[in-house]
Amino acid sequence: MPKIIAANWKMNLRRQSASTLAGRLAKEGRACWFFAAYPHLDVVGTAIKGSQCKLGAQDLSPEIDGAFTGDVSGEMLTDLGCSMVLIGHSERRQGYGEDAARLLGKLRRATQAGLAPLFCVGEIMAKRKAGKAEDTVREQLALLTKLAAVERSRLCAVAYEPVWAIGTGVNATPAEIVPMHALVKSELEKMGLTKQPILYGGSVKPDNAAELLGLAGVDGLLVGGASLEYDSLAAIDDAAKAA
Ligand code: PEP
Repeated sequence: MPKIIAANWKMNLRRQSASTLAGRLAKEGRACWFFAAYPHLDVVGTAIKGSQCKLGAQDLSPEIDGAFTGDVSGEMLTDLGCSMVLIGHSERRQGYGEDAARLLGKLRRATQAGLAPLFCVGEIMAKRKAGKAEDTVREQLALLTKLAAVERSRLCAVAYEPVWAIGTGVNATPAEIVPMHALVKSELEKMGLTKQPILYGGSVKPDNAAELLGLAGVDGLLVGGASLEYDSLAAIDDAAKAA
């Protein structure tokens, strides 16, 4: 299976820079996944039309269209051409207090609206230091058992992102990543999910991408900061092609 490179642009870029970046990579025949900010989804969708790249949102409301000021529904996202959505990113879990009940609502809504969730899991440093990293991730994944099998099967991927490695410049080591990816794979298999790629995320850069992509069980990378510029994202995608 080709390795996947997913770009989480967070609250960055502008309409012009986002569409130029995505369009350039798409025209080169790359197959990246772009999780763009809401205001950029339309132009990025246009820029990658007809290419192998895919468009995703970074969040959605757990509600159907209605009186939810400021929220964006799954239906609005599919209407814009999104096929995927991030759910469970640590910046949403921690910064916005998104708990299991809210994440479950988002997972259900996404699948019902026709979006494939990219579900993010990962432990904070205190849990790892306490020897609870695997329990934390197992518990986060257990949320997926609450979905109907048909909803669950719509996941496009799971990303293991140790929270302490996101945006910090600190990488998890192979000795931390490999067993965790094996655990994620085994937990997903118990739920009947055998096809979903398992991505690693956390301070991925061009100079560590090849090593990370070479680790057992790493099917691709979810990239934040290094996905904002052409040179670094293209170099990471080149590493994926060579892996
Ligand atoms: C992320 O936000 O998913 C992420 C991995 O960010 P960064 O690559 O900047 O650590």
